[in-house]
Amino acid sequence: MATCPQQDRCPLFTVPVMAPALALWRGFYCDHAPDRCERLRQFRAGLRPPFNMLPNGKLLHLNTADPDPG
Ligand code: SF4
Repeated sequence: MATCPQQDRCPLFTVPVMAPALALWRGFYCDHAPDRCERLRQFRAGLRPPFNMLPNGKLLHLNTADPDPG
C-alpha cells in the first residue's frame, strides 16, 4: 500500500473547487489504492486527464459562474 506520487500536483488536491470531492476519493484511491486510479493511469501514459476527472474516470460536474456557451 502506497500513497499516490501525484498528490502534490493532482487537481483533486490542488484545485479548491475540487475540495468537496476530496475526502471521499482520497481515502479509497489516493491513500490506499492509487494503482486503481484512472487519473494516475492516464498520467503514466503521458496523457493529461481533465481536471475534473475523478479517480474512477467519471467527470465531476461542477457549478461554475461561466455562462452556458451553447
Ligand atoms: S486522484 Fe488519482 S492521480 Fe490524483 S492523487 Fe489521487 S490517486 Fe493520485
